[in-house]
Amino acid sequence: MSIKKTIFFILSVAVSLVAADYRWGDSAHSIGLIRAKGGEARHPATLQSGDTGYTLIATATVLPPYKGNARVVLEGEPKLDYKIHLSAPVVDLKLHRKPELRNDILYDLQPRDRIALWVLMKPPVLDPVCGMAYNDKFSKHTHDGKDYFFCSEHCLETFRQAPEKYQVTGVRGKYTLAFYDTNTGKAVLSVPVIFKAKGDMHDAGRHQH
Ligand SMILES: [Zn+2]
Repeated sequence: MSIKKTIFFILSVAVSLVAADYRWGDSAHSIGLIRAKGGEARHPATLQSGDTGYTLIATATVLPPYKGNARVVLEGEPKLDYKIHLSAPVVDLKLHRKPELRNDILYDLQPRDRIALWVLMKPPVLDPVCGMAYNDKFSKHTHDGKDYFFCSEHCLETFRQAPEKYQVTGVRGKYTLAFYDTNTGKAVLSVPVIFKAKGDMHDAGRHQH
């Protein structure tokens, strides 16, 4: 086992302990640059639609002259429940300082800092017909031993007529993990997070761990 793999494993254990109620889900890795004028990730993080939990490991380097605090937000609809954890930069032993994460704000980012964020995401249960996120007015329907939830009688009836059409449920499309400088409100890094249905999964920046 390489050092990197060992460290990765230790971090995995630490993170799964931190977020005990989050299933250790499908994961993706992104590498980005934090810039005062707005930085981009090297490739979008791509995850497979339909899972009940996901992990995004977002690593980023702060480019000079950027200095400051940045709020990290996962944007997109329907809203995902998520938790962000900052891991210690154990890979780079030359680093003596590291930013801190409190209430989703990274404090004291300085040029050449390297950070690794673990974003644990839990998508809501969706109505498989219309895609609406679950609320307490939904009704449950069991089909083939699996539970489905519907916003209305109409959606349930549509499902009943062709259940095979609605087997794949889950969030789809583009979300963004955005880093906003707390002084200027400007995005200093935007990481696209894309949820794709099984059939659409190519090799777009997806890494299995
Ligand atoms: Zn519906």
